[in-house]
Amino acid sequence: MSSPAHELLKRVFGHDAFRGNQQAIVEHVTAGNDALVLMPTGGGKSLCYQVPALLREGCGIVVSPLIALMQDQVEALRQLGVRAEFLNSTLDAETAGRVERDLLAGQLDLLYVAPERLLTGRFLSLLERSHIALFAIDEAHCVSQWGHDFRPEYRQLTVLHERWPQIPRIALTATADPPTQREIAERLDLAQAEHFISSFDRPNIRYTVVQKDNARRQLLDFLRGHRGEAGIVYCMSRRKVEETADMLRGEGLDALPYHAGLPAEVRAANQRRFLREDGIVMCATIAFGMGIDKPDVRFVAHTDLPKSMEGYYQETGRAGRDGEPAEAWLCYGLGDVVLLKQMIEQGEAGAERKHLERAKLDHLLGYCESMQCRRQVLLAGFGETYPQPCGNCDNCLTPPAAWDATVAAQKALSCVYRSGQRFGVGHLIDILRGSDSERIRQLGHDKLSTFGIGKDLDSRNWRGVFRQLVAASLLEVDPEAHGGLRLTDASRDVLKGRRQVMMRREPAATRGERDRSST
Ligand code: ADP
Ligand code: ZN
Repeated sequence: MSSPAHELLKRVFGHDAFRGNQQAIVEHVTAGNDALVLMPTGGGKSLCYQVPALLREGCGIVVSPLIALMQDQVEALRQLGVRAEFLNSTLDAETAGRVERDLLAGQLDLLYVAPERLLTGRFLSLLERSHIALFAIDEAHCVSQWGHDFRPEYRQLTVLHERWPQIPRIALTATADPPTQREIAERLDLAQAEHFISSFDRPNIRYTVVQKDNARRQLLDFLRGHRGEAGIVYCMSRRKVEETADMLRGEGLDALPYHAGLPAEVRAANQRRFLREDGIVMCATIAFGMGIDKPDVRFVAHTDLPKSMEGYYQETGRAGRDGEPAEAWLCYGLGDVVLLKQMIEQGEAGAERKHLERAKLDHLLGYCESMQCRRQVLLAGFGETYPQPCGNCDNCLTPPAAWDATVAAQKALSCVYRSGQRFGVGHLIDILRGSDSERIRQLGHDKLSTFGIGKDLDSRNWRGVFRQLVAASLLEVDPEAHGGLRLTDASRDVLKGRRQVMMRREPAATRGERDRSST
């Protein structure tokens, strides 16, 4: 334990040992080799290039797309006595000039630079005249055009390899999905480089998914178990962020809003309070979180479906970075599914992209509806096999009851068919349960053969049936009809009795009054 790397780790960073793959990566890069590093958020990616940059001669050039993160990292490094600087659009010309002179004079250990800055002819020629230890490409998934963080400039970073083939490059990302990994290796010319893939498991996070029933009550019940703890509550829209923050404050919680529509000062102030004070609940859109390094976030709650499984993994990954127990809680309902499916269908994206988005949503829905260990499903999506049920997710701790829902599914599907494949769930349930309503009579739906054939289930259970049918693509949302459902190719097998449908039993309603309107 007394290699130069260990000595430096202890002396500069104050850590006693490397974690996971860190040591292997550090040795590999220090020796002058290229690397692609896949490590979950909180895994300790920074040290993988910081230590080699300090061990090798010259300055380590770190490409980073996140200006705020850059500043934080540089500040933290300076406090450790490392000669670190950054170059981005926030610097005035004078300061930038000084940083450039320091680089040329060999006075820097690490220089963080935004990609668009790095690619300027001026900066590249500056690099020609400098001594470079390595190139680190942080947030390497920004090179992928399918990700939500796509940065076109990342595509041009191959120039580094072309102009400085002898200088080691290390690309890092917390993106776990294999197609993106392949794309990174290809686009950054790292197919030949060694790939260091860490497990993406976050064992201290407990995953729970609940079916939306009375969203507000459910959130409050969840938060009651986390009084005084810091956490993030993600909401789909800005409006909902503000409503939720107001509602929580009304309940005596220390809640703050965060979304891109707030003035910059308010955002900065709220973020600062979240980082510095104890027990703040941040209600936020996904605009909040990237680059937030707060180790003791005890929970991440999603009050709406996230955009994708990777998104969910990233967002929940902000919990428990200190390794202490933390909770990831997701509350979702049929309304979310319908909304997201509609958003995809009505979106501007081309056919290929829509296909990919549908597949991503299906993966996420598969996770939500799964009766298997959540961790196994989550990691399987990232190409990782988790050997046995984890014992730290809702499905492991309280195994869900399954029931044979084939007949119920047949009733639901034929009700969709008989009523013309254009009605939403509320109306379909009214038909199935034989409701005596004006609308039913007006439409003549009390004459349908499916009228009243579903009295054996209450509307709450019917909602569960419809939700699971949509999630399993046995029903789909018609983009033309507002939330209307129609059959899919797969529905036929169920209707003809060729396919059995097993479903998750809906859990008993939560405490408090039930609110049928919140789906
Ligand atoms: P990432 O960039 O992968 O999300 P960071 O590099 O920010 O992760 O590291 C996450 C946290 O773990 C930081 O607080 C860092 O100081 C800490 N850390 C990283 N490596 C070690 C180590 N070997 N020993 C102790 N703490 C570490
Ligand atoms: Zn489990």
